[in-house]
Amino acid sequence: MKKTILLITMTSLFHIGLFAQTEIIAHRGAWKNTKLPQNSIASLDAAVEQNLWGSEFDVHLTKDDVLVVNHDHDFYGLEIEEHTLAELRTKKHPNGEVIPTAEEYLVHGLKQKGTKLIYELKASKISKERTLKSTELSLALVKKLKATKMVEFIAFDWDACLKFRELDKKIKIHYLNGDKTAAEVKAANLTGVDYHFKIYKKNPDWIKEFKALKLKTNVWTVNTQEDMDYFLQQEVDFITTDEPELLKTTIQK
Ligand code: MG
Repeated sequence: MKKTILLITMTSLFHIGLFAQTEIIAHRGAWKNTKLPQNSIASLDAAVEQNLWGSEFDVHLTKDDVLVVNHDHDFYGLEIEEHTLAELRTKKHPNGEVIPTAEEYLVHGLKQKGTKLIYELKASKISKERTLKSTELSLALVKKLKATKMVEFIAFDWDACLKFRELDKKIKIHYLNGDKTAAEVKAANLTGVDYHFKIYKKNPDWIKEFKALKLKTNVWTVNTQEDMDYFLQQEVDFITTDEPELLKTTIQK
């Protein structure tokens, strides 16, 4: 009986977040120390193998309206928005992979349940309309794959964040651009923020302010020991890093 009560108490404490700890998100997959291409399927697999909380990736819309995974607006010299998927597939990553579609990437990532898929929606350089079209297509894709619990969205574009929320009351969406206060993010009913580390350092009360409004806090891209120590001390919810191996060792210390 005593054991049962203890177990229930421990479980409740865990759920209310007393033991909550900073979680690790690999930035563009675990690519740096594994020497894999950023945003490749192989770099996602490496993040999953490291049993990280999440793995981030970037998504653009091609000329023929296919969502594809890549960081830059060009894939080895070909502007993504000005080329079709077939044209983009004339180029390859150094490991032999072609540019993954967001659907292929998600289907692959959904074969496991341990590592969340952090989907960054990239804004169009052509128009706001295309950014919002990407937003709608991205949400529709995640719903089609029944992946709303495994995927969290992040975006620099405020209007895209608002669109996600307008279309779905529950999907997790975090704002990246660093120029909104806790009150503004709360009023927009977003899940939280994912700001550059310099923004938090310049505004040292912000993490506390976001937390006070029950907004999630994520920080990018934290790659040095000094910055890792600083943000762990601040009890930020997530750290996004190119050095997940170092962060894991730091947290386990
Ligand atoms: Mg990104």
